[in-house]
Amino acid sequence: MGAKTGCDRGEGGASLGDVLAELHLHFHGCIRAPALLDHLARAEHVLWDWYETEIAAAYGVVPPARQLVERHRAGDETAADEFGKLFVFGDADAGTFARFQAKANLLWLAARPEDHSKPWSDTAGEVARFAAGIRVEHRRQGVEYAEFRISTDMVAAACSGAEDGLIERFAISLPRKDPWPEWARVQELALGPFGASVTGVDFCANEEGHPPKRKAAFFAAVHDFNAVHPERALAILYHVGESFGDKSLESAVRWVDEAAELGAHRLGHAIALGVEPAVFGAHTRSEPVAERRDQIAYDLRHHDGLRTAGVHVDPASLRVELARLDAMPDDASITIDYDHARLAEVRRRQDYAIARVRATGAVVEVCPTSNRRIGGFTDPAQHPVHRFLSAGLPVVVSSDDPGIFDTTLSDELDWVCEHTGGGEDLRRTLLETARQSRSEALTGRELA
Ligand SMILES: [Zn+2]
Repeated sequence: MGAKTGCDRGEGGASLGDVLAELHLHFHGCIRAPALLDHLARAEHVLWDWYETEIAAAYGVVPPARQLVERHRAGDETAADEFGKLFVFGDADAGTFARFQAKANLLWLAARPEDHSKPWSDTAGEVARFAAGIRVEHRRQGVEYAEFRISTDMVAAACSGAEDGLIERFAISLPRKDPWPEWARVQELALGPFGASVTGVDFCANEEGHPPKRKAAFFAAVHDFNAVHPERALAILYHVGESFGDKSLESAVRWVDEAAELGAHRLGHAIALGVEPAVFGAHTRSEPVAERRDQIAYDLRHHDGLRTAGVHVDPASLRVELARLDAMPDDASITIDYDHARLAEVRRRQDYAIARVRATGAVVEVCPTSNRRIGGFTDPAQHPVHRFLSAGLPVVVSSDDPGIFDTTLSDELDWVCEHTGGGEDLRRTLLETARQSRSEALTGRELA
């Protein structure tokens, strides 16, 4: 392999002892309000119109971010506190991904120096500055091992200034629509001088419209790469079942099952797999015909298992329905009514799928604050972590975007241990599961 870099320290997991490990972090999501304010104040061009249009659409008002950055530039020390309140996505903001995204846009507002129409001036200097700030925060928290989702062009700068005692690893976030062009760059990176630090690939952002089944060939390519290069093997990290307003609850559960079956090493959130279906109450949903066809195929394929789990499957009527759907266009919409009985049956489907996910060895990443605020779950009892833990599914707890949520790994662990009643024993188990679920451990890279 090429020359070692500062980020290589910590390769090999045997000596990790009781290290505190954060496995689900987005690099930008780790940026805290003061660092962001300084960044925006330094930027030559800021895409304020874009931010203000998007936030007005999501919130109905435009907060004074532009003015606060100007006041900070002018030396007004009171601007920082106000900016922090404006940036953090708190409990009062909770409810939709659109509202979260509108606030998170602040992280991408500094325009590229060479093209002022494009967001994010990802100059090496700014990335390195953010990385240094994140290290200060991790030292404060005692987080000694961190995996970040990041883009290929930021890895070198994010690695600069690496410090002894902090192990940093990166998963490259790929576009769901077409990961192939970026895959060539990822392989180059994984086999190059920064390869020891690049330990995974990730799929995040909007999952609607991107069924896991379309990633089958891509996942297979990653597994092929891993077979040829075990010392540079890449974990597949896949956000799924986080947002599922466009489909039936059955399809949302199935997507998580399918992602695990295709070989994802860790599943981001997987809320659909374990959330109490009763939380949705009696309601009507719709989904594209193509999804319903896939659901029928799943039900027919898993007929015996579903029936054993207490799910009613009638193959004859499903085949009749399939013949009817085959005459309809893929993007035609069908509606499904949920009553108490159907919601109870979804719960049994979840139990079946949880057992299947567990059998694949996939690990679920639970990020309680993120789930609560983006998903809008107010009752802790509704959170999927209860079902995951009681089913023996491997779970790691993480903070997702600790900067914009203003949280820490310890806060997230506290929430899970308190609301599940697991206490200190559970905390120890979760920390150990996190150490064992590092990307390089799951792929076997550290043993290669
Ligand atoms: Zn995430």
